[in-house]
Amino acid sequence: MKTGNAKGIVGFIGLGTMGCEMARNLLRAGYEVRAYDVRSEAVDSLVGLGAKPAASVEEAGRGADIVISMLPDTPQVEEIICGPDGLLAHPPAGRLIVDMSTISPGAVRRFHAALQEVGVSFLDAPVSGGPIGAKNATLSIMVGGDAEAFARAKPYFEAMGTTVTHVGEPGAGQAVKLCNQLVCGINIQAICEAIALGRACGVDLNQLRDVLLGGSAASWMLDKLGPAMIAGDAGAGFRIDLMLKDLRLVQEQAQMLSIPLPGTALVTSQYIEARAHGEGTNGNQALFRVYDRMTNQPRS
Ligand code: NAD
Repeated sequence: MKTGNAKGIVGFIGLGTMGCEMARNLLRAGYEVRAYDVRSEAVDSLVGLGAKPAASVEEAGRGADIVISMLPDTPQVEEIICGPDGLLAHPPAGRLIVDMSTISPGAVRRFHAALQEVGVSFLDAPVSGGPIGAKNATLSIMVGGDAEAFARAKPYFEAMGTTVTHVGEPGAGQAVKLCNQLVCGINIQAICEAIALGRACGVDLNQLRDVLLGGSAASWMLDKLGPAMIAGDAGAGFRIDLMLKDLRLVQEQAQMLSIPLPGTALVTSQYIEARAHGEGTNGNQALFRVYDRMTNQPRS
């Protein structure tokens, strides 16, 4: 727990593309960070920035005011909470756990109930803004869970993001994030279609983007990902594999609630096609390659 000049002790679990930047911002804000990841090189690089290494989930949480996780999917979060070395058996001293990954809202409600039984608060706090938002501490953070736990976690969120919103009960943060992902996926598809048509019409694609950004078709995706889509840069970015995981979570929720989402179903098929072509680790802007194939306009 908090000692000396330290602002607070954070156990941080999951130091990948997003987590390493978020943990770094907590360090910058003056928090002590105990870093854990199954990849020891990820821990080492954060230790180089001033974090303390943890050799296990239990060690990351020991004596911490709060534990924050940023992991790929529901099974990894389940493991660090319910596994033998998990936080259910070894709660942090501050009895507050925040998962910032994108996972199933139903699983969130299960984790919340199990942790509540042992007197530990749990928040779901997924994020939007990508690696750039993580690096610049400008993430949008959508939080589900108890108001009292949210108030305690808020200063930590403010070290990682600029828009921090308590959106409701446990699982509500994930519900909002799934709506966010649906909009992102379909928006990228719309941009791919505009590029495919604009290219066939022979218009200058950079000019096309500039014009659209000045009018009612403007979007974050067109602004941030448009240049890579026009240049044929499929590489870095939010991985297609992660997008497919999120679209699966969207569709699971929709099926459970009997909500038809035909736009999501269509764009999911296109991302599956991209993955079938070995593009799962490309950024999600690489959906343009599906349109390149459909229009027989392959780019190297
Ligand atoms: P990532 O794969 O780069 O990082 C995940 C990290 O978790 C890796 O370092 C991995 O080694 C570690 N890990 C896996 N299992 C573990 C375990 N059991 N214990 C400890 N560490 C473990 O993923 P990311 O891009 O940082 O995304 C993390 C989460 O954030 C995902 O749920 C993703 O959907 C969401 N997200 C990602 C982005 C993005 O642009 N990358 C944007 C918003 C939200």
